[in-house]
Amino acid sequence: MAGIAIRGLSKSFGTRDASFAAVADLDLEIKDNSFVTLLGPSGCGKTTTLRLIAGYIVPDKGTIEVDGRVLSSPGAVVSPEARGMGMVFQNYAVWPHKTVFENVVFGLKLRRIPTAAAKKQVETALALVNLSGLEGRYPNELSGGQQQRVALARSLVVEPSILLLDEPLSNLDAKLRERMRTELKELQRRTGITFVYVTHDQAEALALSDHVAVMSGGRLQQYGTPFEVYAHPANRMVADFMGLVNLVPGKVRALANGGGTVEISPDLTLDVAALDGLKPGESVDVAIRPENIRLTALASEASGQRGDSQVRAPDTRPEPGSTARAALASEASGQRGDSQVRAHSASEDARERADDTRPEPGSTARAAPAGAGAKLAKITNHVFLGNINEYYATLPSGQVLRVQTHPLQHFKIGEEVAVEVDATQCSVFRGATGHTT
Ligand code: ADP
Ligand code: MG
Repeated sequence: MAGIAIRGLSKSFGTRDASFAAVADLDLEIKDNSFVTLLGPSGCGKTTTLRLIAGYIVPDKGTIEVDGRVLSSPGAVVSPEARGMGMVFQNYAVWPHKTVFENVVFGLKLRRIPTAAAKKQVETALALVNLSGLEGRYPNELSGGQQQRVALARSLVVEPSILLLDEPLSNLDAKLRERMRTELKELQRRTGITFVYVTHDQAEALALSDHVAVMSGGRLQQYGTPFEVYAHPANRMVADFMGLVNLVPGKVRALANGGGTVEISPDLTLDVAALDGLKPGESVDVAIRPENIRLTALASEASGQRGDSQVRAPDTRPEPGSTARAALASEASGQRGDSQVRAHSASEDARERADDTRPEPGSTARAAPAGAGAKLAKITNHVFLGNINEYYATLPSGQVLRVQTHPLQHFKIGEEVAVEVDATQCSVFRGATGHTT
């Protein structure tokens, strides 16, 4: 049972540049029995934070408490062995000349645990990481994943209440990394140990964590659930770091109920829910995730039919995916209203604009065709990723939007498409230049 409270924690190395701190003014509340990830680019201070928590280094300022007891402060640091913490290092380095058993029992020998008790604890630790029966093997007789589990068992064997893990999966190949992710998450749930996990891999952080602390330049940028940091990033850095995002320059055009209208280009305006402290005319960047943009073929406009744009007439050969596409389109129509899934003809749009003068905040913004022949965006690149298609849609202004679609939704390079953005899912940040018009 161990919650960690970090307050005003700072650490600089050397005195050449006093303004440079590896960790600066860090406040973090890590709940007992939770999985918390420190996430950020290389050099942002993750390892330093972990080593401060472990007691390997002394803070310049601030305190670290575990269950109300101060373990670190500038004047006094409880030694690593006396903290009830285990640590798994980035380079897990199991001893090659020792068996699995000898590797794992090492920490217990240091603590002078009697042999019989130590043997039992090693068995328990090996069972936790699914290595029972491999006690006598040497590391070169184990796979990379098994070696990583030996390193885990070595830190679990001392029965820590807090486990600190520094990029423990970075030496493994992609497939194994994903499997170990699941195992780590399960291990945390089963043991109730508080996990503090360091990674630069946002997917890993999202998959594993109860809470993610996004760091940059030694400072905490945001602390929240995976959903919060992904969907509601606190700033541009977080938006950019948490996966693929289009950061699109725009201008605030009008305010309404805390939100307002942002113009991306004459063809594309967004009614966003939150525009905290922004004024009309201000330059902003809009963060748009690729999955919140919908592309629609313009083919149906010629026929003037509603709703058939996604289920394109089989003008070419019928494809295996065509049925699925039809089902997808009709399902989406049922759920979200069919305005979201079709290309509008120019006359329909004119009619709707007249009816609906002020779209409510949060409604889907559509880049509306200005006239019958108007084209909204051109497909300029396509990347097939197996479970998704990624398209680059270039607006007339030259702005490129990266869009992810269902793998069976196809567009050709050069094809012109309608673009819809789900404005409810966009975040707006004050523009870097700050100039207004
Ligand atoms: P991360 O783990 O996020 O990659 P670190 O915590 O290792 O980042 O490093 C943060 C910053 O502190 C980096 O600029 C790094 O060069 C510096 N740093 C870390 N450890 C030391 C050290 N022992 N001496 C000098 N500088 C260090
Ligand atoms: Mg590091």
